[in-house]
Formats: sequence, C-alpha cells, structure tokens
Amino acid sequence: MKIVFATNNKHKLEEVKSILSSELEIVSLSEINCFADIPETADTLEGNALQKAYYIKEHFNMDCFADDTGLEVEALNNAPGVYSARYAGEAHNAEANMQKLLKELEGTENRKARFRTVIALLLDRKEYIFEGIVNGKIIEEKRGNEGFGYDPVFVPDGYNQTFAELGMDIKNNISHRAQAVKKLADFLSDLAQI
Ligand code: IMP
Repeated sequence: MKIVFATNNKHKLEEVKSILSSELEIVSLSEINCFADIPETADTLEGNALQKAYYIKEHFNMDCFADDTGLEVEALNNAPGVYSARYAGEAHNAEANMQKLLKELEGTENRKARFRTVIALLLDRKEYIFEGIVNGKIIEEKRGNEGFGYDPVFVPDGYNQTFAELGMDIKNNISHRAQAVKKLADFLSDLAQI
C-alpha cells in the first residue's frame, strides 16, 4: 500500500518510516512532485491536519495522512496551540517564541503544559483522526541543546530534564508525535492483516 505523508520534513519522515510497517510505502510531498505551499488556515490542529490531507486527495487523488502539532499551556487557555510555530510572529522563530512564552508566564505558578499532535488520515474516502499527547510543564529558563521548537523549556512528566536535554532517543519514544504515529501504525497494520 502506498500512502503520502504530507510533509517535506526529513526528520519527521524518517521518524514515521521507522515506526510504520515496512510493507507500507510512505512517500513525501517532493516524491509526488508537490511543491505547493499547502494552506494551513484552520483554527484547530484537527482542522489543519484535515486541510492538508484533503489538499493532497483533491490535487493528487492519493491516500494520505498529515499532521499538526501545538503546545497547549493551561494558564494561557491552551495557547499558543495551533499558532505555536508563529507565536511571536510570521518569522516562525523558535527563540522568539520561547522568549514570548516565558514572558507570558512570568510570575505564574501554574506551569502545566502539553504537546498535542493530531494526524488526519484519508483512506478510501474515509477520514480517521489519531492523537498523541505528552503532559509536562514549562520551566523558567531554557535548558539543553537538542531537539527544536519549545524543547528547551518543556519538561515531560516523570522526568527532571527538558526535551532538549533528554535527547532524541528518549524523546522519540515518548513524544506526542511518536504516540500519534504509533496509533496510526497500529491501525494500518490491522488493516493490512484483514
Ligand atoms: P508542526 O505542526 O509539527 O510543524 O509543529 C508546529 C510547531 O509546534 C513547531 O513549529 C514548534 O514550534 C512546535 N512543536 C511541534 N513539535 C514540537 C516538539 O516536538 N518540540 C518542540 N516544539 C514542537
């Protein structure tokens, strides 16, 4: 079975391929010659993931899945959420995003936060949604050099180190994205056995 993963992010592609069964052929956007800037204009993670998946279905008529992730901070009414990448502006600057977040939370005792990933799958004209969540907290100063985005300020529950200190091996095992991808993988491998 051949399925498009609506991304050109090599890191995500490798992560997903390593979890999904080798019987599935996962192809990226560039491999189907899709170089468009696919719109992500919904105001929810589910909406954006579905919007990307439907774009591929409509323009390329292939089965596909797409993901969207956000950091949801309890004391900020779940902001930045779907706007995580551009929290501090359209430049998508991770450093500026973290500084803005730390400023917004200055003096706030409730530091609870979670990363949430939604994967939307379109298969034989049916929609399926898979969700992965990792709960944790936002610390007061950045720590660690690995990972990307908000990793240096996020400590997952059950650990004392940030995602940026824990490193990729641990992060890729417990992360929001890994959990959502595992659910997708279980669903697809059940289908393959029918
Ligand atoms: P995307 O949907 O995977 O592109 O994620 C949107 C934004 O959420 C990214 O630009 C990051 O700011 C943030 N983000 C997503 N996943 C992670 C992660 O694993 N660690 C830290 N930040 C993340």
